[in-house]
Amino acid sequence: MPGIAALYTPRFLEHKPPYPHPENPSRLRIALEALRSLGEVEVVEPGSATVEDLLRVHDAEYVETIRRIVEEGLPFVDNDTYASPGTLGAALAAAGAAMDAARMAGSSVPVALVRPPGHHAGRRGRAMGAATQGFCIFNNLAVAAAMLLSSGCRRVAVVDFDAHHGNGTQEIFYSEPRVLHIDLHEDPASLYPGTGFPTQLGSGEGEGTKVNVVLPPGSADDVYLAAIEEVVVPLLEEFKPEVLLFSAGFDAFEGDGLTHLKASERAFHELGRIPRVVGVSRVAAVLEGGYSAGLSRGLPAFVSALAGSEADWPAKASREAVVRLAREYLAELKYLLRRYWRV
Ligand SMILES: [Zn+2]
Repeated sequence: MPGIAALYTPRFLEHKPPYPHPENPSRLRIALEALRSLGEVEVVEPGSATVEDLLRVHDAEYVETIRRIVEEGLPFVDNDTYASPGTLGAALAAAGAAMDAARMAGSSVPVALVRPPGHHAGRRGRAMGAATQGFCIFNNLAVAAAMLLSSGCRRVAVVDFDAHHGNGTQEIFYSEPRVLHIDLHEDPASLYPGTGFPTQLGSGEGEGTKVNVVLPPGSADDVYLAAIEEVVVPLLEEFKPEVLLFSAGFDAFEGDGLTHLKASERAFHELGRIPRVVGVSRVAAVLEGGYSAGLSRGLPAFVSALAGSEADWPAKASREAVVRLAREYLAELKYLLRRYWRV
């Protein structure tokens, strides 16, 4: 069984909120502790991304704006997203850790335990019309995926299971056919950033490779199991990615806060089993959101499955009305996807 490698550096803790904020350094203490509960975990110091690495997915002007905000000591990028003197170093290390995790995929189970998170950051910061960039500075996973593409990789799959839509990632790769991006998230009608509808399928050559699996508020494990079985697994089997990257957010865990989803250990374990079910061996995970119970309970359930364990978590059931709505959403999505995929 491949060993678990946590890409982690104390530099991630130097991104500090100026006031009490859910996205704060203590998240990584919880996450590391949870990973270590699984047994032997190798902690690997990541390198930092260069500006050249960032420019594959961000505009030079945006990178310069972040540098200036930090240099001038401004406390905010926007109403949700703060900055501190250590923000630039942390954000470069976070993107670097995602790249290192992608490079290590296949030889270990690399988990980039990074902050600030990244999936809401688009080319110029705010993505797809969102009001803010949702705690994110650089799009760590997108930087890693773009690095893989530039080094000759032909098919990269991104599975983003953070409860919020990965609008930054989707915007960056919207017309890129070499990136299949499947995003499971709470209904954008009830949650930030208000994007990620099933009709947003990508454009140009990338049409059909952007897949938004909408989960009604109240969705528990049963809804996740259906979405994985009916959409995520068939698409990945058909796409045959060379590398699978997870945007791993744990804020869908019941009681984690910030969202209205009710996943438990079972859903996260099932997400971690996907590479084995599909037969992909080069896999890496990059941390996105997750604020309390999701990190202490969802993260280890996910990573233990990535590392090959078969735990028997019971699947929690959603309320009947939620299941009915989820079935409607899945049927609508599959109808749209049949133009491009066998689902
Ligand atoms: Zn989130």
